[in-house]
Amino acid sequence: MSQRRLSSTVNSLLLAFTLSVVLALTLVFTALYYFIFEGFEESRLEKLAQNIASEMNVIDESERLALMDAQVSADLRYTLIDENGEVVFDSVQSQLDNGEYILKELDNHSNRPEFQGAVREGTAYVIRYSDTLKKDMLYAAVRLDDGAIVRLAEPRESLIAFAARFVVPIVIVILVVAVLVVVFSKLLTKRIMRPLDNMDVTEPLKGEGYSEMSPLLARIDDQRLMLERQNEDLARADSMRRDFSANVSHELKTPLQVIVGYTELMEGGLVSQEDIPKFSRIIHEEAENMRSLIDDVLTLSRLDSGSISASNLKDVDLFILAKQVADRLAPIANKKDVDIRVSGESVFIEGDESLLDEMMSNLITNAIRYNVDNGYVDVIVGERVQPAKEAVVVVRDAGIGMPEDELTKIFERFYRIDKSRSKETGGTGLGLAIVKHAALSHNGQVQVESKLGQGSTFTVTIPIK
Ligand code: ADP
Repeated sequence: MSQRRLSSTVNSLLLAFTLSVVLALTLVFTALYYFIFEGFEESRLEKLAQNIASEMNVIDESERLALMDAQVSADLRYTLIDENGEVVFDSVQSQLDNGEYILKELDNHSNRPEFQGAVREGTAYVIRYSDTLKKDMLYAAVRLDDGAIVRLAEPRESLIAFAARFVVPIVIVILVVAVLVVVFSKLLTKRIMRPLDNMDVTEPLKGEGYSEMSPLLARIDDQRLMLERQNEDLARADSMRRDFSANVSHELKTPLQVIVGYTELMEGGLVSQEDIPKFSRIIHEEAENMRSLIDDVLTLSRLDSGSISASNLKDVDLFILAKQVADRLAPIANKKDVDIRVSGESVFIEGDESLLDEMMSNLITNAIRYNVDNGYVDVIVGERVQPAKEAVVVVRDAGIGMPEDELTKIFERFYRIDKSRSKETGGTGLGLAIVKHAALSHNGQVQVESKLGQGSTFTVTIPIK
């Protein structure tokens, strides 16, 4: 990220803006002032020329030079030109010597525009470059009654020369303005930043702020909530993992203790010959329990580590699968006089056959395990199009059922409603967790309806592609 200081951005923008305004105003006002001043000077010179001309008209010709000489001042040039354009007197070029005016060499002035103008119109005002003085001059010429011309001239200042007079005050003003702008932009930046400085990132939407910032603040808040959620999820996953490991160890300990205990007894010859088959059977059962627990743990951790790999996917007929599982579980069902009835029709889904097998087997095993003597298990497989095209597997039993408030918890790992019954019948507490996981892995879901004493119905739905 390229970083700029807000204060220097504000500062340079304000400074550039203010200085441009000051400069533009200075230029406009200097030019305006210059033109007003020039106009004023012009009319002053005109009036002066008119006055001298009226005086000249009433005095004798011989007194004219003396009058002109009396008028001479440092910044004005006086010239008297006869009707033929010959210069009779010029305040710049004449010198008084022993009461006589000596005129330096000056060419005939009949070609000068102000002379020609005055001859024609009586008066003329011209601004032009003076060959004699080598600078721009303002000329005012007036024709006398006898045809001679009185001419007054004044140097004309250029706009630049005029403006140069104001350079120092302008520079001072600019410096003062620059300092003020720097101070002001510091204060402004501080004021702008205040709501940002005071912002609480854990609660960005609270506190004073600018409406322009709302989208940004909302985004920060979203991110914060997302992070919080992710942290919670991570913490939950972590604690679940730890609980799971602890539970697995705990579940393995019990059968191991039984096995170790019984084998020690047998080793020590403390078991009579006729009890040996009974003890062996118990050891065998506990070992089987351990094996199913380990199998279930392995299945779950395989499912936890990601979705089903594409190589395991194939078209599976759930109806045929249900019949195979039911046949396999028939001996266990027979022992309890439970009847398994599979009905429905073929329905194909793309899935992982061994996982689907395990899912159905867990559901049917539970339906047998938590059944009543002479009970039944109905397995119905079919397809429906509403609300979506999906395969449906219903496993219904008329068994012991479950209290309604337990229904959400039974899919949790190691959750059992009746612990002793689950253990007696070889339950691991992981069966339904695997069912749920298997359904989700196939983008499906599992639902349960049950009433205590009235049996349970599990319904798995899996979308058909
Ligand atoms: P378990 O190995 O203990 O059967 P499951 O995860 O398969 O573990 O089931 C969790 C609990 O849900 C069981 O302990 C049992 O209390 C209850 N349960 C599951 N299926 C049924 C059913 N068909 N009828 C009554 N209770 C059931």
